[in-house]
Amino acid sequence: MRFKTELSVNLGLLEENMSHLRAITNSNEIIFMVKANAYGHGSTAISKFSYEELSIKEFGVATLGEALELRAEIETGEFETLVFSELQLENPEVRELYLNQRILPVISSLQDLELLLSDVEFKNLPLLLHFNTGMNRLGIEMKEIESCVKLIKKADRKSIYHLMTHLACASSSMKTNSHNKRQLENWNKLKAEIRGSSLEIERTSISNSGALEQGAGIEETHIRPGLMLYGPSSLTPSLRSKSLWKGANISTLKAEVLKTFKVDRGQPIGYGATPCPEAGTVVIVSLGYGDGFLSYYQGVKVKSGKVHGRVNMDMVQIFFKDGTDLKKGDVFSFWDNSIESVTNFSDQAKTVPYELFCALTKRVPRTYQFGKN
Ligand SMILES: *Cc1c(COP(=O)(O)O)cnc(C)c1O
Repeated sequence: MRFKTELSVNLGLLEENMSHLRAITNSNEIIFMVKANAYGHGSTAISKFSYEELSIKEFGVATLGEALELRAEIETGEFETLVFSELQLENPEVRELYLNQRILPVISSLQDLELLLSDVEFKNLPLLLHFNTGMNRLGIEMKEIESCVKLIKKADRKSIYHLMTHLACASSSMKTNSHNKRQLENWNKLKAEIRGSSLEIERTSISNSGALEQGAGIEETHIRPGLMLYGPSSLTPSLRSKSLWKGANISTLKAEVLKTFKVDRGQPIGYGATPCPEAGTVVIVSLGYGDGFLSYYQGVKVKSGKVHGRVNMDMVQIFFKDGTDLKKGDVFSFWDNSIESVTNFSDQAKTVPYELFCALTKRVPRTYQFGKN
């Protein structure tokens, strides 16, 4: 239990973000990506609220286990959960978990496609296919389109329920980046070939947050946003000013101030005895790598302070050269509801907001508010 240290999540802001997303897209159906514990925000609370209050009917997760967790927590839900990577289809024990629970495996290889089509138990499971159009991670290959179509027809299926691909460089320009251009070309080729083979395609999706921030992929039936709904931009810094995204960051990372003291220039602080660069004030804050506040956040500037010296397991030192009003028992926020507060932090730490959020461990309670913090 903690009393002041928390990731405080404002569901009212999630609602605003959802409205904003709907305003900048074509009222596409939304597959809300809630993998990795809803990017660290707590998948149960986020999904339950999105389903009950925001009319979200489809969720995306990475593993079958994550899908089952959602099912267990929101039992009465009439929603679909798409599993993107760890499917376990070859495991007979877990097969029945997919059936009757509206959990849908996204097939990313011909082997899994064959497995699914050859199993009579799966005959009512719709086909969701993920193609590799150039990311070269998961996905059925472009050169396998023909074999794929053959397999589907042989199994007497008439349609693909959801055809999708994933973009490798959506944080870069969707118009000028050569990888993006090639992936879009392949995507169009893929759809044309499949339609040409007289298989029906019921649903399509291509866009993650970065693409959506640039208005790309909204001509498809579905969109697959993750990060943007939690707040931050996915775009590289130089593109951010052009982003269509004007959301709010839904979380505030708060930690309790344990001690505040004046320091002299050169005074050694904490493990490794890191000397203070000049006279000032050091604030010891109750958040460390045991909470997912990682060691390489050393040196990051937050407000008028700076993470000083080594990050400890349970606490971290913040150095203020011009002093601070903070005192023992106060709460220090590392980021708040402004998108800039998160992107400033992640840019300095040379990481991405995805990782800041996902790194936070169980030790940091997630608390939920509705309305302003
Ligand atoms: C995680 C993920 C997304 C969402 O990506 P964001 O950048 O968070 O919007 C979309 N599609 C797939 C396949 C994903 O794995």
